[in-house]
Amino acid sequence: MRPAHALLLAACAACAVGQAVAPEPPADLIVINAVVHTMNAARPRAEAVAVRGERFVAVGTSAEVLRWRGSSTRVVNAAGLTVVPGLQDAHGHVAGLGAALQELDLRDTPSFEAIVAKVRTRAATMKPGEWILGRDWDQNRWPVPDWPAAGPLDAAAPENPVFLMRIDGHAALANRRALASAGVTRDTPDPAGGRLIRDASGAPTGVLVDVARSLVARQIPPPSRQQRVEQLLLADGELRRVGLTMVHDAGVDPATIDLYREVIGSDRFATRVYVMLTGLSTGDWFTRGPLLDPHQRLTVRAVKLIADGALGSRGAALLEDYADEPGNRGLLVTPPERLYAVTRAAAQAGFQTAIHAIGDRANREVLDVFERVEAEVPRARDLRLRDEHAQILDGSDIPRFATLGVIVSVQSTHCTSDMPWAPRRIGDARVAEGAYAWRKLLASGAAIAQGSDFPVERPDPLLGFYAAITRQATDGRPPGGWAPDQRLTRPEALRAMTLGAAFAAHAERDLGSIEAGKLADFVVLSRDIMSVDPPDVLSTTIVRTVVGGRTVYEQ
Ligand SMILES: [Zn+2]
Repeated sequence: MRPAHALLLAACAACAVGQAVAPEPPADLIVINAVVHTMNAARPRAEAVAVRGERFVAVGTSAEVLRWRGSSTRVVNAAGLTVVPGLQDAHGHVAGLGAALQELDLRDTPSFEAIVAKVRTRAATMKPGEWILGRDWDQNRWPVPDWPAAGPLDAAAPENPVFLMRIDGHAALANRRALASAGVTRDTPDPAGGRLIRDASGAPTGVLVDVARSLVARQIPPPSRQQRVEQLLLADGELRRVGLTMVHDAGVDPATIDLYREVIGSDRFATRVYVMLTGLSTGDWFTRGPLLDPHQRLTVRAVKLIADGALGSRGAALLEDYADEPGNRGLLVTPPERLYAVTRAAAQAGFQTAIHAIGDRANREVLDVFERVEAEVPRARDLRLRDEHAQILDGSDIPRFATLGVIVSVQSTHCTSDMPWAPRRIGDARVAEGAYAWRKLLASGAAIAQGSDFPVERPDPLLGFYAAITRQATDGRPPGGWAPDQRLTRPEALRAMTLGAAFAAHAERDLGSIEAGKLADFVVLSRDIMSVDPPDVLSTTIVRTVVGGRTVYEQ
């Protein structure tokens, strides 16, 4: 029995005979007068928590919990504010978020002209030859939703290579200097798994789809070690601010794990990290085996693979043609035999595998790979194989997640970002059958974890919560929500971003709910997201973020 539990019993014995004896040692932090949604089925609501060291020692009424007060205890009166378990993002890209914070932010630019203006402004501050990087443009938001052509960027930044990533990360726009640095001309053939968009004369317009991005991307000088450390720290600050206490970092190279060790070891980085190694460059990790951490600060026990592209750039691998581009069924970016070989090797080494799959064909290939590996490697199922995104599913594949024990890792804001144009891509029948089909998946018995895929979407978990329960954009459209029969209830949505995500990281014994003995991660919110009108979720603010008993953000 752990000491905390022994003391709990002692405290209860004392209260049973009416004595007010403070347990020794007392709590370090007590929060009282809160509306606590614990996510502990045995006691879903409480009004106070007590923390000693990095763990909860008591959860209950304010009076019950105040028995843990000693002379050194800090007592916070929440005055009716709401407390939820530490929010997790089951799929994000931490260094990518940090890099995005360093780059031109092109999200919400209303036209290509607005992007050109931003590039022109940035070019004025840079030396000739320095790269101008930007991200998150989306032609679907422009008055004319066609692919842009890079000509105006040549005029805006004649001395600088420019490389601007599309919002889904699966297409990019490069100007002439950037194309020249990569030797790309009209004679350059489309690489396998990628495409150069060309004008009527056959010359590249600057738009590079999927694998073709790397023709130019690999010319960009890599960030220095110091810049990479800065990226992690910038991201950590943002994650604390939005109330995230743990992220599953979906695709990390071995060198970045060393940086994590450095910033976590020196206590500069607070967010808990569950690492998915980049599956095609795992270094010697399969020989060494997983890195497990009893404090859950840094865990390495998963690998990430990518089956196909994205829907926006028609790179998602479909079983039938795109509705708006007959003859195109998208691209498998990793051959299924390779997915199988890495998943099998990972399972034998004790690593979970998580595979990006958007289109219905990619999802079927991933389920086939998982089924085959589970049949051959008995422990694979216990490693909790994961399908990242699972956006478009053939109806016959939906029950297979529960059957195979495959976790569905969803991103609810992908749904609300995609809904204005997804029906054009795949047609209404495929939307109705299995697009972002969270309720069908839950009904089938599948385990769901929720994330954002930041920096593709914003990391704010309350945006994800709102999207999950409404299937509406932040402006409330469409009225009633898009395919509203697939919405999650609030308890389901909160569970997917707490216990559900913890389960996906094998961390449900330590994390995901507020109960004595678990690590003390929680978030204080300005409003009760479990009862306010959905639009008021969007104006709810993070008052305090606590990781392992330590306040890491305060409004
Ligand atoms: Zn991702």
